[in-house]
Amino acid sequence: MAVVVQKYGGTSVADATRISAVADRVELTKRDGADVVVVVSAMGKTTDDLVALASEITDFPPPREMDMLLTAGERITMALLAMALHERDIDAVSYTGSQAGILTDSSHGEARIRKITGERVKDSLAQGKVVIVAGFQGVDPESREVTTLGRGGSDTTAVALAASLDADVCEIYTDVDGVFTADPRIVDEATLIGRLSYRNMHELASCGAGVLMPHSVAFAREHSVRVHVRSSFTGSPGTLVESGVDDLPLVGIAAEPTVDGSKLSIVGTADSLLSDVERVIEQSGVSSPAIAGDGWVSLTLPAEL
Ligand code: ADP
Ligand code: ASP
Ligand code: MG
Repeated sequence: MAVVVQKYGGTSVADATRISAVADRVELTKRDGADVVVVVSAMGKTTDDLVALASEITDFPPPREMDMLLTAGERITMALLAMALHERDIDAVSYTGSQAGILTDSSHGEARIRKITGERVKDSLAQGKVVIVAGFQGVDPESREVTTLGRGGSDTTAVALAASLDADVCEIYTDVDGVFTADPRIVDEATLIGRLSYRNMHELASCGAGVLMPHSVAFAREHSVRVHVRSSFTGSPGTLVESGVDDLPLVGIAAEPTVDGSKLSIVGTADSLLSDVERVIEQSGVSSPAIAGDGWVSLTLPAEL
């Protein structure tokens, strides 16, 4: 039977109405005959709120307790989604990262997945259940402590589960129609990219395009996981990131904040094009020099621009 992994980000599960909409989509996929594993993020801005709450208590939260706190967010979503599926007569069970056998190293706050044992996930799928897994978390098997994978880490949970289950596709549901040539919330003219190579997607994500966590793309490339970035709000065809796609000479623009401004990067693989971009930047009068890497050129712009 086809295995489909679906991951829903914070905005997609922000309230009870959104969780019901997610349950509707999961129900459709399940009734289509697939084995479905759902990875969920914390609702809306829950993780930010928990971080802020901790900072009201202390400037130096113990990393172990921070991970205990933050993993609670995803746990709320997974239980509510299981309830929503039961309402639809779909047998569903939710697991924390630890219960799902997501084994990590010991780095609290930025742990790396080492292995997924996943017996309970596989047993539940064999029993015909929809399995819901809390994103962004795992357990260090030596210390038995709960860990988190870094902000945006639910993407990595989904890709790693898809790899371990040999899933047909890992669908990343988010609040935009897919991957665009620039952040569509900032640049109106940005256009949707239908298919992307792992390399282009990784450069774009590493340069600040927050739509996918960079590490999840590296993981997908390493294990040849087909990633389909889609909207949970619209029926848009989205963006496929998969093997066999040629690198694009020009992919798009990504930005990320720095301490005193923001870093703007042009991502693409045509060396000639990137050197043209570098030259234009240098001629533009902006004093900070452009830095070029393999597949990108970056420029740090001061805040006043
Ligand atoms: P989720 O909570 O679903 O994981 P994120 O906020 O992590 O969602 O990622 C989706 C956001 O990524 C979009 O709302 C968009 O503002 C931002 N984004 C940045 N660059 C891009 C891009 N090139 N294409 C699409 N979205 C982008
Ligand atoms: N809830 C976590 C975060 O906000 C993980 C995720 O959403 O992927 O970073
Ligand atoms: Mg995200």
